[in-house]
Amino acid sequence: HYILGIDTSCDDTGVGIVELTPKGVHVRANRIWTQAVHAQYGGVMPELASREHVERIDGVMQGALAEAGLKVSDIGAVAATSGPGLVGALLVGLMYGKGLAQALGVPFFAAHHLEGHIFAAASEDNLPAPYLALVVSGGHTHLFDVPEEGKYILVGATRDDAAGEAFDKIARLAGLGYPGGPAIAEAALRGDANAVPFKEPLQGQKAFEFSFSGLKTAALLAHRAGAKPEDLAASFQRAAVHVLVKTTRRAAEAYGRQTVVVSGGVAANTALREAFSATNLRVVFPGKGLNTDNGAMIALAGAAALRAGRAPSPLAAGASAYAPLANG
Ligand code: ATP
Ligand code: FE
Repeated sequence: HYILGIDTSCDDTGVGIVELTPKGVHVRANRIWTQAVHAQYGGVMPELASREHVERIDGVMQGALAEAGLKVSDIGAVAATSGPGLVGALLVGLMYGKGLAQALGVPFFAAHHLEGHIFAAASEDNLPAPYLALVVSGGHTHLFDVPEEGKYILVGATRDDAAGEAFDKIARLAGLGYPGGPAIAEAALRGDANAVPFKEPLQGQKAFEFSFSGLKTAALLAHRAGAKPEDLAASFQRAAVHVLVKTTRRAAEAYGRQTVVVSGGVAANTALREAFSATNLRVVFPGKGLNTDNGAMIALAGAAALRAGRAPSPLAAGASAYAPLANG
């Protein structure tokens, strides 16, 4: 059984294909077109993103089929992100996915982008609930308790910037380039993590709340005082990793969970992976290429919906910019 997944929530056109077998799921293709048009504006221009998705999506899908060695008629189900994200961009993938499913006469699943990020880890593990999920991406720093398949209870979130956003902003101010996550990680290898002091507590007031704006201000002040970019990167990365791991550990203990899924773009960070691996938790990360936005993670979410026997989505399913995942 092959499931095709589409993500056009922001400025990446992603199409992936997974194979569902009785033993588990396997990623067979994962193709991404990253839009370069936005670089000149220093941020994503929504209307340009939509237009480029329209131009690219068919080619990206053909590429995914070729990578998997499949014909379009081999596809048994289609999933596409319906939110959250840029509405115009989402609509392109959603409509394309519905049209494809309709033409093939196969089930269609509208997928939640964050559920996609979480199910990216299903490339490495069958993800049997219960588990705790930490989504650390460009727009989210959210902890969910997943007591059973399909149920998401919000445990905590950031009250200001997302973790990935902090990596991006600090990289920009230190002149390390874009995207900031990989740039900070790379510069940190050459820096001294003790050079710039970041004060604790970094977490918010509520039990499992995060806050990254204080780190950003501290980084700005250190930068103005002449801190070396590499030292700033190493010190900030250590502080960010520390608060993410510490808060997640406390939440896992409070909710009685032994398994933690860590996903989203920041989950690609080696220092974060090492710190989580050093805990006594069972930690599951997405496989290579599945941390930042991609289509395979949406195909994995579709496969999970199929396996759980969820009803397909109506073709009237719409896109929404704001769509909380929590449902319990
Ligand atoms: P959301 O899913 O919340 O809507 P998004 O889709 O834009 O946001 P992702 O694609 O999941 O976010 O992740 C992008 C973020 O991940 C960026 O902020 C980027 O800097 C960060 N990131 C990518 N690689 C790394 C890394 N190695 N270390 C730290 N951060 C990273
Ligand atoms: Fe994302």
